[in-house]
Amino acid sequence: MRQTPTIDRRGLLLVLSSPSGAGKTTLARRLITADQDISMSVSVTTRKPRPGEVEGQDYYFVDDPTFKRMADNSELLEWAHVFDNYYGTPRAPVEAAIGQGRDMLFDIDWQGAQQLSEKMKHDVVRVFILPPSAGVLEERLRRRAQDAEDIVQQRMDQAAAEISHWPEYDYVIVNTDVAVSMEGLTAILSAERLRRERLNGLTAFVRDMQNQL
Ligand code: 5GP
Repeated sequence: MRQTPTIDRRGLLLVLSSPSGAGKTTLARRLITADQDISMSVSVTTRKPRPGEVEGQDYYFVDDPTFKRMADNSELLEWAHVFDNYYGTPRAPVEAAIGQGRDMLFDIDWQGAQQLSEKMKHDVVRVFILPPSAGVLEERLRRRAQDAEDIVQQRMDQAAAEISHWPEYDYVIVNTDVAVSMEGLTAILSAERLRRERLNGLTAFVRDMQNQL
């Protein structure tokens, strides 16, 4: 549902971060499906594809020299080294979206959230997703079982580090129930879309209105 169909606005950049296993990917997919005005930023990574992952949909899978070249050419808005692999956000789609009043969703870690905030300032809305407990997080990571055991352990260790960055986010959702978390996420998005600073067309809209009064 569009809240302000007649007023032009800048697109916003909605960042979701969490330790892996907190349910972030599920929330991201649901939001993209439910809302026509937001699309997923597809990252570039040097990680190998997991079974079922689709090139250009989950990630752009590239080799190390290609990633380095993209970073050196400023084709990436931010990039980070996560779990022994490189991950980065292609710049061009983000800049196009903001200018055209379309929103983008980012599944990136705390390093990406920091860099994106520094570069894109008030266009960025940061949401941190927490698991309901350490036990649930471990269970989700083991059930997923797409990675080898040593990687699961590595991700458990990394979870504590990722969680320590929660104070750098604008909103925090404890993901106990996906439906309830979705309510929170869509409420955040609806409210942020109505921020006065994003409504480029507001001055003209109000001036027209005043002229008619
Ligand atoms: P995974 O390998 O499980 O797909 O992702 C591992 C981690 O890398 C996740 O925390 C994910 O949010 C993060 N990540 C994915 N893409 C990017 C990116 O473009 N930039 C940054 N900084 N982190 C990313």
